Amino acid sequence: MKKMAKMAKIAKTTRKATRHKENTVQQQPGTYALLLSSATNAVIRVGRFGDLHLQPGFYVYVGSALGPGGVRARIAHHNRPAERPHWHIDYLRPKMTLEGAWLRYGRKSLECQWARRFAAMLGASMPMPGFGSSDCDCESHLFLLGKRPARSLRPTATRLGSTVTYCAF
Ligand SMILES: [Zn+2]
Repeated sequence: MKKMAKMAKIAKTTRKATRHKENTVQQQPGTYALLLSSATNAVIRVGRFGDLHLQPGFYVYVGSALGPGGVRARIAHHNRPAERPHWHIDYLRPKMTLEGAWLRYGRKSLECQWARRFAAMLGASMPMPGFGSSDCDCESHLFLLGKRPARSLRPTATRLGSTVTYCAF
C-alpha cells in the first residue's frame, strides 16, 4: 500500500513537470506551437511556394493534429527531417533546431486563434506571408519572435490558454 502511494506520487510529479520528452506527449488530438531557432542566415526554398530568408533568431510555427496518432505522432514528425516534404514547415525544419513545443489537447483546433496571439506579441513578425496558412484566412502560421521567449516560457503559455504545457527537446 505504501509502495503504491509512493508510485502515485511519482506519477503525479511527472505529470506536473513542464519539461518532458517526446515520448510523454499523448496520442490525443490537439493544437501545438513549435519553438524553433536558427543560428544562421540562409535562403530556404519552400517548394513551389517560394524562398524564405531565414535569419538568426527564434521562430514559432503553429499547427494542429486531429488525426490518428494525435499530437505525439505530429511532434515525432517535426522532430525528424521529412524525406518527402509535405507541409511548408517540412522544408524549413532541417535548417533549424527544434527547441520545444507548447501543447494543448482537445478535438477543437485552436491553431488560428494561437496564430493571432503570436502575431500580436511584441516584436513578432511574419517572415513569409501565407506560410502554413493555405487552408485558412490567417496571414501566416509562422512567426519570427522579436526576442528569445522568457526563460520560464510561462508568459507565452498563459497567452495561449490555461491548460497549455511546454515540452522541451
Ligand atoms: Zn489560420
